[in-house]
Amino acid sequence: MAKKQFKAESKRLLEMMINSIYTQKEIFLRELISNSSDAIDKIYYRALSDEQIVFNKEDYYIKISVDKTNRLLTIEDTGIGMTKEELENNLGVIAKSGSFAFKNENEAKDGHNIIGQFGVGFYSAFMVADVVTVVSKALDSDEAFKWESKGADGYTVKETEKDTVGTVIQLKIKENTEDETYDEYLDEYRLKAIIKKYSDFIRYPIKMDVTLQKPKEGEENEFEEYQEEQTVNSMVPIWRKNKNELTDEDYENFYTEKRYGFDKPLSHMHISVDGAAVYKAILFIPENTPFDYYTKEYEKGLELYSNGVLIMDKCSDLLPDYFSFVKGMVDSEDLSLNISREMLQHDRQLKLIAKNIKSKIKSQLQSLLKDEREKYEKFYESFGRQLKFGVYSDYGANKEDLQDLLMFYSSKEKKLITLDDYVTNMPEDQKYIYYASGESNERLEKLPQTELVADKGYDILFFTEEVDEFAIKMIMNYREKEFKSVSSGDLGIEPDENEKQTESQEQDNKELFEYMKTVLENKVKEVKASKRLKTHPVCLTSEGELTIEMEKILNAMPN
Ligand code: ADP
Ligand code: MG
Repeated sequence: MAKKQFKAESKRLLEMMINSIYTQKEIFLRELISNSSDAIDKIYYRALSDEQIVFNKEDYYIKISVDKTNRLLTIEDTGIGMTKEELENNLGVIAKSGSFAFKNENEAKDGHNIIGQFGVGFYSAFMVADVVTVVSKALDSDEAFKWESKGADGYTVKETEKDTVGTVIQLKIKENTEDETYDEYLDEYRLKAIIKKYSDFIRYPIKMDVTLQKPKEGEENEFEEYQEEQTVNSMVPIWRKNKNELTDEDYENFYTEKRYGFDKPLSHMHISVDGAAVYKAILFIPENTPFDYYTKEYEKGLELYSNGVLIMDKCSDLLPDYFSFVKGMVDSEDLSLNISREMLQHDRQLKLIAKNIKSKIKSQLQSLLKDEREKYEKFYESFGRQLKFGVYSDYGANKEDLQDLLMFYSSKEKKLITLDDYVTNMPEDQKYIYYASGESNERLEKLPQTELVADKGYDILFFTEEVDEFAIKMIMNYREKEFKSVSSGDLGIEPDENEKQTESQEQDNKELFEYMKTVLENKVKEVKASKRLKTHPVCLTSEGELTIEMEKILNAMPN
């Protein structure tokens, strides 16, 4: 029986593979440019150990050109090139990465800038092209070869002519179909935008002929087009620069350029870590609350780069929810370029980075609190509520990280204070941290329950947001002091001389209290003589864990 071929299926397999790895077609350009950059890097590493090779930076670049008429897009580089065998092995075998092998061989020589390692990036070209042609001349070789393929059908390799070392990749861009247009990959403005988005920080110049207009000589209001070669990428990313070279303005410009927010950043962090996790990051704390911040629409996350190449716009795994207001980017050498979202979630390196970032943000906030109190208060006004949610969520798992960062309004100081401020200023005989919950500071000032506590000279924290009391219940105690609501049954400070008086009052008014209880049936549990009232005739108190305010919130929640 004749053996059957899998040909048609393998073509579909290639399509499936490419379409499942890449969600957007435009990234083919990122992949090809990264390969070119890798190829130049390889000459650079060779030059480090080989005196025969002189590495003149000006000689190394990547050039993009467009031929609209023939639907051709060309990516040319002056990198290390490929021999016939390399063309066959690296481009002919799916999932074979010459760059991965190079990295392994050159581990000792610091080859870690190289981006590729999966051996599938090149094939993304077939998302937008019917035919891909690669003409390459390898370093140390006199011959040049031409590799050509229409996809998984196979490829041909022929000898050809090429003067200089390097590679030229030519894509025959697909014709538009009913559902899909490909013209944009022949549009220089669109291409420029794609390069800017993904490859702005490639270390070598990415050049492109750009069409410009100039006034026609001798003729008014007439213009003529001309071509000019431009370098599209900015090459040195700000995060690779030294902190000392940069001003606050540089960071503010970066924040605006990147559209992290419409405001100015309140504070920035420039991080460079070499340890278990190797990464660089620039993070910002915005000044204002984004309009959608406390809604479901808000998406947290940081930009994620692998070696200067953008791999994700909003990587949410890098930030805990309670620091979701932080904006910025992370660049790591340890991440693969064509890693998928699903894979990222399990990436050990990413987890390490996330953990490290969390503690950096925490200490940044702590130092703001300590050294720039006004700024911290501004921050807290915008995002304090999120920190309180953070304390409350996950069954209080993050309270240790967050409790020092909380602030509440102090009845005594008439401003926001931290829990540490509160406990530090407590008189020696004070047992508890007192708080009162209500709608507003003004209403709480008038609350009868606060009288006795305030009269003792004790401070009271005013809780005016629903989350406040829930957060405090998670913390339970701070610096060994328990929290106590001023409306709880036992305040622990009732003066002794009142004790007898209250008892006799209780006896004398027994009938009245019983009557009041019947009238208020189902509304109150008990009517008692109070030991805490001074000028006010009556007040409500609660027993047990829930305070009146919490009960109100719980009752208002939909079941
Ligand atoms: P990866 O970059 O993950 O290794 P690719 O599919 O993008 O996988 O590329 C496969 C291999 O082809 C690369 O590892 C490299 O050896 C080779 N290659 C691709 N493009 C070029 C180029 N422009 N110059 C030299 N070699 C290249
Ligand atoms: Mg690649």
